Amino acid sequence: MSNEQINAPVELDISKADTITCEECGNASFIQAFFLKKISALMSPTGKEAIVPMQVFSCGNCGTIPKNMINLGE
Ligand SMILES: [Zn+2]
Repeated sequence: MSNEQINAPVELDISKADTITCEECGNASFIQAFFLKKISALMSPTGKEAIVPMQVFSCGNCGTIPKNMINLGE
């Protein structure tokens, strides 16, 4: 009497995931970059002006930042 379960292990197979490519040049490798967001004193929880880094990825070839990574909600 077999008691097999068809529970596929929840394992991330990164090779099957979509690779994001640069919309400008098709390059598929990206480098870390930062937007620097300036928080005005009015918006800041501390009441002081602040600069907050926001990590994004930029194309390693042409420097384009994919639009779908920019969700600034502005
Ligand atoms: Zn590019």
